[in-house]
Amino acid sequence: MINPTPELNKKLPKLVTSDKKRLNEFLSYLSKQALHFMGYPCSEVYDYSELLPLFRYSINNIGDPFLPSNYHLNTHHFEQEVLVYFEKITKAQESTWGYITSGGTEGNLYGMYVGREAMGDDAIIYYSEDSHYSIVKNIRILNLKEQLVASQKNGEIDYQDLAQKIMVAPHKKIIINANIGTTMKGAIDDVKKIKAVLKKLQIENYYIHADAAFFGMILPFMATPVAFGFDTGIDSIAISGHKMIGSPIPCGVCLVKKKYTRQLAHSVQYIGTLDNTITGSRNGITPMFLWYFIRTNNHKTLAKRTQQCFDNADYVIKCFKNLGINAWRNPYSFIVVFDRCAPQLLRRWQIATYNNIAHLIPMPHISKRIIDEFFGDLEQEIGNSQKEKKVGK
Ligand SMILES: *Cc1c(COP(=O)(O)O)cnc(C)c1O
Repeated sequence: MINPTPELNKKLPKLVTSDKKRLNEFLSYLSKQALHFMGYPCSEVYDYSELLPLFRYSINNIGDPFLPSNYHLNTHHFEQEVLVYFEKITKAQESTWGYITSGGTEGNLYGMYVGREAMGDDAIIYYSEDSHYSIVKNIRILNLKEQLVASQKNGEIDYQDLAQKIMVAPHKKIIINANIGTTMKGAIDDVKKIKAVLKKLQIENYYIHADAAFFGMILPFMATPVAFGFDTGIDSIAISGHKMIGSPIPCGVCLVKKKYTRQLAHSVQYIGTLDNTITGSRNGITPMFLWYFIRTNNHKTLAKRTQQCFDNADYVIKCFKNLGINAWRNPYSFIVVFDRCAPQLLRRWQIATYNNIAHLIPMPHISKRIIDEFFGDLEQEIGNSQKEKKVGK
């Protein structure tokens, strides 16, 4: 590895031959699996090799990214730039504080934590059946009072049920988790409609957290943009970095309105800065990946990349229909939902399933050629199972 600091060069123990062999075998396994990766929303199109020299330093972004720290091996200045970028695309206009997290789950935990501290221990959180499992886990961690709300068939929160659930147990302090792109069906909870429900029921004290783990990096680049950010009245948002952007280390961004975060910070003499994040030590490499991505892309390239995913999704739907398999997508989503079938194929292509549905996500690394290969496989498996049925008769 490149080491720009020769003083740190020391003769260190190396792997023995058998371990090297094992490592190489694992690498070739990964390269094969990476080509059959259509079920999860993680882009594999990136190259951060210019950043490799960073791996030689004990970088740690501990503490508040906007404050000086006594731990100098940090990438706080780059982290700040990334956060400013996300403020822009979420229409926050410098009104937020945030940091780079370990992923969507931590961003959701932070948003929900800030919501709980702002609304008080007896606040109730409302979230839909289609919410990501991290919401349920975070509710347990925070010991929040909760109310599950029904979803519509497309995965979007049922606004009538939300109103009903609030009415039967009138409560002054409410936290709402709005899904900006549900994990399975890619449905978007309309924050404006949620706010209309709250207004009608004369709820004044509320906090809305937006879980935009996947769609936070899609919606801003659509041909017809969908409002989902702070301009819709949310109070915090979580967006993943390893999904639409792509990163070899999971990461994410969390932004929270500044007015809520002030009372949460603790000054820590040991690190010479404020401790206002969920974890203490924080990854200082992942902010560099995100920084690299935003420095090497612009609105135009991201719009093009996004459009390609939607085009491929429509192509996938057409291919499913040609085989007589029901497939659809939500209007602002390129997650293709289809009827669960061909179990061996789903495992081979790392396709996620839920009850009787499955989904396929044509992320930027998915080409028409890979899609055709998938459908070739699918046709074969369907053919085989029909032959087996005939033989069975
Ligand atoms: C992926 C995802 C999460 C969780 O993100 P992690 O980075 O896996 O912790 C949360 N919510 C939604 C909607 C997601 O798609």
